[in-house]
Amino acid sequence: MTTVNNDVCAGDADLSDFALRAEEWLQTAVPVEWRESRGALSGEESDAIRREWDLQLWRGGFAGIAFPKDFGGQGLGLAEDVIFHVLAAKAQAPDGFSRVGKTLVAPMVVRSGTDWQKERYLPPLLRGEELWCQGFSEPDAGSDLAGVRTRAVRDGDGYRITGRKTWTTFAQHADRIFVLAVTDPDAPRYKNLSMFLVDMRAPGVSINDIRQISGAIHFAETHFDGVFVAERDRVGNEGDGWKIAMELLGDERGGSEAAARYVEIRSDLDLLFRTCGDRPELANALQELDERTETLRWHLAKVIDLEGMGGEAFARAVSVLKVLWSELWQVVARVGFEAHVPADREHWRYQFFESKAVSIYSGTNEIQRNLISERVLGLPR
Ligand SMILES: Cc1cc2nc3c(=O)[nH]c(=O)nc-3n(C[C@H](O)[C@H](O)[C@H](O)COP(=O)(O)OP(=O)(O)OC[C@H]3O[C@@H](n4cnc5c(N)ncnc54)[C@H](O)[C@@H]3O)c2cc1C
Repeated sequence: MTTVNNDVCAGDADLSDFALRAEEWLQTAVPVEWRESRGALSGEESDAIRREWDLQLWRGGFAGIAFPKDFGGQGLGLAEDVIFHVLAAKAQAPDGFSRVGKTLVAPMVVRSGTDWQKERYLPPLLRGEELWCQGFSEPDAGSDLAGVRTRAVRDGDGYRITGRKTWTTFAQHADRIFVLAVTDPDAPRYKNLSMFLVDMRAPGVSINDIRQISGAIHFAETHFDGVFVAERDRVGNEGDGWKIAMELLGDERGGSEAAARYVEIRSDLDLLFRTCGDRPELANALQELDERTETLRWHLAKVIDLEGMGGEAFARAVSVLKVLWSELWQVVARVGFEAHVPADREHWRYQFFESKAVSIYSGTNEIQRNLISERVLGLPR
């Protein structure tokens, strides 16, 4: 079984070599101003650093780590991807804006895209030059994604898209958006949808910023008013949208983010032990959190081992993992926030608010529990 210790994920010599290379690169690549004044940078300063980070990852040879070489990736596995996320979190590296493109669009285009789409979209995406956002949720369709109402109506050699998407992360920075839309309103549920790759600067696309509880603005509502999209930008056939979306959501819940979160949780918990370890009223809570963090580490190692098996076993394990890390992070952040350590107040305030969202995105934890009860425990619907 792959081991995941508190420092790094290690299994064999190749992984150790990779870890060493990544660690050395991160030491010099992570911008000092980001590392030293995290949380204190203005929105624009922080956005500029995150934007540049996407380009740096490519130059450093760490973009598309688990992505096939044929399409410009590094051709390595999930273990290397996880190692990089772990080390990047330890090195306090920025989180770039290219995540949506690399983790969602790239696998989707490789799986279901045409040769034209692969050639057109994969290189700039991996280089961090073209940023993507996700157009799934709508005001009345989130967990019930099949209920989306955005329409794509045939028009000559393409379609006209009209509708409203919401919670579009990074819409302010994105060059393109992938959109799930209804192409055949008369077809049965799940057979009526198609997937499109849309230019965010096309006439008819507009966005309204949404400010988050932490003060940051990384969301928007995205409006489509008769936006033309060429037929060559439809992924798969008409009616394949639901199948493609479900495969993509499997990618979204993958193990790399969990690995980075594990490091963040571990380091937050260490901070709590250092600053509050002698407070008797917190002793039980800290002990319990320590045990839960160990459980998360064990589960993470298991998910990495399951990657090779792919399919259902991997998907189920990833659902469990998502519930484990998201709820643990929320409790650690709450305990830290309520511990009132003056020197760490800003840190815990940020973690407390940021952690609120993690049980909602990538499929809410209630939905994950539905999946676990049906697919892991075999309970009736
Ligand atoms: C940080 C963040 C980033 C996001 N980024 C994007 C993005 O880039 N693009 C995008 O398209 N969307 C994005 N989303 C939206 C996200 O996918 C949805 O918020 C999520 O799917 C839930 O949908 P909803 O908000 O409409 O809630 P609803 O679906 O209305 O759910 C409301 C509540 O009811 C519960 N519920 C609903 N159905 C069931 C059920 N069958 N069984 C049990 N409980 C149920 C839910 O768990 C939830 O607690 C993001 C969300 C967040 C928080």
